[in-house]
Amino acid sequence: MKDTDMDNSKTVGLDKQSLDVMRQALDRMECAFASLPETGDASADTQATEKILLDVATRLGDNYPYFHPLYAGQMLKPPHPIARLSYALAMWINPNNHALDGGRASSHMEKEAVADIARMVGWTTHLGHLTSGGTMANLEALWVAGRLAPGKTVLASEQAHYTHGRISSVLGLPFEAVPCSQLGRLDMNALKRRLDGGGIGTVVATIGTTATGSVDPLPELLALRDAYGFRLHADAAYGGYFGLTDNLADPARQAYDRLGDVDSLVIDPHKHGLQPYGCGCVLSRDPAVGRFYKHDSPYTYFSSSELHLGEISLECSRAGAAAVALWATMRHLPLERGGSFAHGLAAGRRAALSLHKKLVADDRFVPGFAPELDIVIWSLRAGSVSESSDLARRVFDEAADRQLHLALAELPTAFFDFEGAGIQCDQDTVTCLRSVLMKPEHESWVDRIWMILGEATDAAITAS
Ligand SMILES: *Cc1c(COP(=O)(O)O)cnc(C)c1O
Repeated sequence: MKDTDMDNSKTVGLDKQSLDVMRQALDRMECAFASLPETGDASADTQATEKILLDVATRLGDNYPYFHPLYAGQMLKPPHPIARLSYALAMWINPNNHALDGGRASSHMEKEAVADIARMVGWTTHLGHLTSGGTMANLEALWVAGRLAPGKTVLASEQAHYTHGRISSVLGLPFEAVPCSQLGRLDMNALKRRLDGGGIGTVVATIGTTATGSVDPLPELLALRDAYGFRLHADAAYGGYFGLTDNLADPARQAYDRLGDVDSLVIDPHKHGLQPYGCGCVLSRDPAVGRFYKHDSPYTYFSSSELHLGEISLECSRAGAAAVALWATMRHLPLERGGSFAHGLAAGRRAALSLHKKLVADDRFVPGFAPELDIVIWSLRAGSVSESSDLARRVFDEAADRQLHLALAELPTAFFDFEGAGIQCDQDTVTCLRSVLMKPEHESWVDRIWMILGEATDAAITAS
């Protein structure tokens, strides 16, 4: 298709207007360096740039439309325009937040943004910084935990992110998975039994599991910490911001109300914080754990006795642009309870509740438990769990053919009432459908999503 074939009045809504602001912002930034001697024109080779950039645009078209409400599959969406533009603006400088020498302004912005996240959970003091993502953030938290309790076991639920098992192996710490309840939460009785067995240094509470958005029972976990004395780490990479919303069910609300009582915390701004990938955050309630990071780099810290973030981070070079983008986004959408940012999260959650309600009322489906955040899971009614799994895969394909992009998940059969539905349980796990309704727009698209899902389901049933 030639460019001229495209009808510009009909677009899927990729923002272009903000490019005008970009030029103004670049002019402003250039002013700050106006006293430097001239170096001549720094423009790129326009012809080559144009050719390659248009090729890149064509290549990038081979993606699922993560920005569109009919993409309702995995936890993916583009960043907020302010984040995208601020990140791009910083690219003309490319600051490195390892040290103040590499990113003075962006390091200050990182400290402010991280302090705002700490304040969200009620911390006025903390030690924390951004990371390249949730994996690195959790690695640092468990590294600190391992330094405090060398050789002791790390426990997390079977539904915790698989990264915890791998991280523990990297750190040389024993790791064990604790069974889950039928709601995908860490099973407290199983945990107690294991704690009685001894040797536990750290328990990971998942505040919003990646598969189902289940929230581990934090108040009970905190009570156990007091009794047994382990370190409690909260992996809230996905769910961390949901405490700001006003429409959580009681158990989740109670967990979020105690989030500030954990010892360390991970929240991914690149999951629900409207940021480009490359932005996780790790926080410790006690700033004194900074002592573990001590080193004497001979070449990085020259500019001041002020804290360089590289002194409290395992990663050395880090994207200053990520901090700039987060700081800018949070100026526009502060982390306030009941604020605009919280409204966006609450809208996704309403979309999830609405989809779940429709699934419950329709006997083509076997719904999973009610969503605790904005993730919905459901199975297909069939003679057996294996047939249900085949059917789910077919519905997934039929939906994609109709431009509705869902996700498949392999989950314990215990998450569904197959017995009550008269479905033979011939395997321990089921391939089911999963939808992460993480865009506020999903709320007004639920009816459309439901209609396409219905058509796709009928087509899949007919074909089988
Ligand atoms: C996504 C996620 C991770 C891993 O984070 P990345 O940013 O993908 O490295 C860890 N834990 C949970 C609960 C997650 O949802």
